[in-house]
Amino acid sequence: IEGQPTLGNPDAKVSVVEFGDYKCPSCKQWGETIYPQLKADYLDKEDVSFSYINVLFHGQESILASLASESVYEQDPESFWKFHKALYDAQPESQQHDNAWVTVEKLKEIAGETTSVDLAKFEQDLGEESTVLEKVSTDDGLVKENGVQFTPSIMINGVMLEDPFDYEKIQELIEQDL
Ligand code: CA
Repeated sequence: IEGQPTLGNPDAKVSVVEFGDYKCPSCKQWGETIYPQLKADYLDKEDVSFSYINVLFHGQESILASLASESVYEQDPESFWKFHKALYDAQPESQQHDNAWVTVEKLKEIAGETTSVDLAKFEQDLGEESTVLEKVSTDDGLVKENGVQFTPSIMINGVMLEDPFDYEKIQELIEQDL
């Protein structure tokens, strides 16, 4: 999780990692159903951290959204989670998620509303002269290294969950390591 956006103490006893894709409807659903429970039960305390790693399973739009999130994280880390949530909120309802919705204009609009990034630099980071491409490649490497097969994939202290929506299992793994 080094260099990854992390909520809570990065040295916490328990590290929860989400491998997610902004284009993925299940990730949006996870963020709306499981994440709030995790946050209320554990992230507001001190012993559990939460990190997010980009997955690029949906092609060009996944790459674009990942570049945007890395640019925000680099320029204005304090606003990362706000941008992250707003980006998932912008994902259309599941029937339409395959339609193109991650565009440079949309990303700029969201970044303008939720962060204080330099929008010219932000736009540069979405194109060929991006300075954060390496960070997206690092995430892609971690996805391959950890054998991520689907999104979201949730890893708790190195253990990958079979079902990311099994909150009881999430609790069990966390409690066991606390
Ligand atoms: Ca990353």
